[in-house]
Amino acid sequence: MPLNMQNYFTPSNLQGADPVLPSGPGARPAGLAVAHPAPKAIVIGSGFGGLAAAVRLSCKGWDVQVLEKLDAPGGRAYVWRQDGFTFDAGPTIITAPHLLEELWALCGRRLSDDVVLKAMDPFYRIRFDDGSHFDYSGDAERMRAEVARFCAADLPGYERFLAEADRCCKLGFEELGDRPFDTIGDLIAAVPSLTRMRGWRSIYRMVCSHLKDPKLRVVMSFHPLLIGGNPLAVTCVYSLINTLERRWGVHWAMGGTGALVQGLVGLLKQRGVAVRCDAEVKRITVEQGRATGVLLADGSHLKADIVVSNADTAWTYRHLVEPQHRRHWTNRRIEKGRYSMSLFVWYFGTNKRFEDVPHHMMVLGPRYEGLLTDIFKHQRLTDDFSLYLHRPTATDPLMAPAGHDTFYALSPVPHLDSGTDWPAQAQAYRQAIAQRLEATVLPGLRQHIVSERITTPQDFHDRLLSFKGAAFGLEPLLLQSAWFRPHNRSEDVQGLFMVGASTHPGAGVPGVLMSAKALEKVVPHVHSFV
Ligand SMILES: Cc1cc2nc3c(=O)[nH]c(=O)nc-3n(C[C@H](O)[C@H](O)[C@H](O)COP(=O)(O)OP(=O)(O)OC[C@H]3O[C@@H](n4cnc5c(N)ncnc54)[C@H](O)[C@@H]3O)c2cc1C
Repeated sequence: MPLNMQNYFTPSNLQGADPVLPSGPGARPAGLAVAHPAPKAIVIGSGFGGLAAAVRLSCKGWDVQVLEKLDAPGGRAYVWRQDGFTFDAGPTIITAPHLLEELWALCGRRLSDDVVLKAMDPFYRIRFDDGSHFDYSGDAERMRAEVARFCAADLPGYERFLAEADRCCKLGFEELGDRPFDTIGDLIAAVPSLTRMRGWRSIYRMVCSHLKDPKLRVVMSFHPLLIGGNPLAVTCVYSLINTLERRWGVHWAMGGTGALVQGLVGLLKQRGVAVRCDAEVKRITVEQGRATGVLLADGSHLKADIVVSNADTAWTYRHLVEPQHRRHWTNRRIEKGRYSMSLFVWYFGTNKRFEDVPHHMMVLGPRYEGLLTDIFKHQRLTDDFSLYLHRPTATDPLMAPAGHDTFYALSPVPHLDSGTDWPAQAQAYRQAIAQRLEATVLPGLRQHIVSERITTPQDFHDRLLSFKGAAFGLEPLLLQSAWFRPHNRSEDVQGLFMVGASTHPGAGVPGVLMSAKALEKVVPHVHSFV
């Protein structure tokens, strides 16, 4: 996808400019008269979406400041370091790296100047409860051989599924992914594409129409879980993830996903954009229907011409914008929304290397449809689970001390509406996961654990300020997507904008990077402020 650089203040079109491009207090975008300081933009939150928005706005000439509640940037991509282990808290599977490349290009650099991306092969192993496994890769021949190993009769259906996923990628990702869906007209314009994709079908239904083998149905439909979607309910448009992975690969950022966060923070620093940590926003101040700045937890008030929230949109409207300023996103409407699942994540380090375990592995339990229904529909915490097991030291030994392994095991669980008392339940749940891993892929695990920590849905609520402790914000249902999702330009408050997982197009690193592109299209030009 070519990048039109003409609208940005970049090294190449900023003749004679200092390599540190205009931003920071009092800086001016190129072309503005000397008397006018650049208009100010505050970005609340430093997740991938917030950092990408800050880069884009800064390149557009805004004087940007990022405010982050936590003590370090990254949001869900926060990094825990303990006992010599590096634990990426969240995203580990990096797809569509060109979206990151674009941000570096805007700043006159290449991604490879700062971060080494390593292509994964295979992408991941999917292990079934009976011990059989499917190695999922980007190699067309090997994928066909894997499909045939499970059910040769499904090969023609597999080809049809790939063709349909490609169509969804073209329409859903390339054409609609970074469109802001700001007006009902945007929705109407998208209807023909949605119709061609038959977007009302769930991905599971779509996969079942092509494949008969129950295991292959799981392999080809589980992807939406990576972004908080229930394969039984999310639109088949999300089959585009399958194409994203095949076309652009699955990558690992050497040093961990935190290296990408640091890379983005570095780009901002070069542009003079501050990322201020330990700065929780308590209120977005609004005067005569227009955002005027933010009130911090320490009581200080920072003024801004626009405010961009990378915090969870439900939390932003519910807790940061006073109700009298919200006609659209009322408390009732927020409560009525359907929120994604949450996660239980157990991070652990071992004093031994488990060489047979690949970097990315799905360790599936006995149930698929039943488990998904319990998590998403009944909000019930069950005794069985399916796990994503992450072993970064398979690719990147420096993520642990020599001879050691770093892991996390992630279990999709219901959000806080399940009523689970997580502080009381967490240890028992962690024990059950350890037992299961020991019995399947990590024999003798418990005697080798030397470091660990846990994240529960309660932490998503308390620490990341996610409504109902949902790990991926609003559930990506058709009627909560595109125009129906909170808009990038607030429906309620002028000068307030949204970026990140709970706005269009949705969660996942590619999704939130696209949301920053969509945001950029609706933020007014800096010249309109001077
Ligand atoms: C365990 C896990 C694994 C995942 N794995 C993958 C993966 O492999 N690949 C993938 O593509 N995606 C993955 N995802 C999804 C992906 O990580 C997220 O969708 C994405 O990173 C969210 O980015 P965001 O821009 O919405 O912001 P977030 O990461 O949600 O960050 C928002 C930030 O705003 C801050 N904030 C909130 N309220 C305030 C306030 N009032 N004042 C100041 N700051 C505030 C928060 O502290 C936080 O830092 C995973 C998610 C999780 C949780």
